[in-house]
Amino acid sequence: MTGKALAVTLVAAIAAAGFVKHEDRLREQNRLAVVASELAGRPVGVRCPSFLRGLVDVHGDAGRVRFNANGRPAGYTDLSPDTCQALRRLPHTDFSCLQHHACGYGAFDAAWAAHTLAHEAFHLRGYEDEAVAECYAMQDTAFVAERLGVKPPIAYALQQWVWDKGYRNEPDDYRSPECRPGGALDLTPQTPSWP
Ligand SMILES: [Zn+2]
Repeated sequence: MTGKALAVTLVAAIAAAGFVKHEDRLREQNRLAVVASELAGRPVGVRCPSFLRGLVDVHGDAGRVRFNANGRPAGYTDLSPDTCQALRRLPHTDFSCLQHHACGYGAFDAAWAAHTLAHEAFHLRGYEDEAVAECYAMQDTAFVAERLGVKPPIAYALQQWVWDKGYRNEPDDYRSPECRPGGALDLTPQTPSWP
């Protein structure tokens, strides 16, 4: 192959790889949007940044939903590159470590990403208040994990873990005294189970 032919072949290969990545990203976004829409109670979108946009993403938020001046949410959420990557890993993450209380940061990261998607979905449902969205998300992390391919008993253990390890370490405006069994933010006050 001449140098020029090699260069053309390389460019074509890179373009093809980019196209496959683009297709993967769209498929992934759609998969996440189905889950978010269920919690939001309306069709909503989920956006994961492309590789290049991910490089310049400096917001530092795990996810975000914009609200207008009237307090109405946008029709989509922007997730950080890390959240998107963790959500992709979620169904392949081994959570058997939970039984021995021996899970590491990578597993927690994946579990937290499921919680983040739930949190943004509750913003999309119309709850702008961080403490409200957060409390509801704590109770629906298992739902998200299950929809994304985690087996039910593990999904619930994972939700419990996110609550135990995550909630108390959150900033004040993400917590509420009503976020407790039987509290005003308990989605199932008739059952004693929590979260
Ligand atoms: Zn929020």
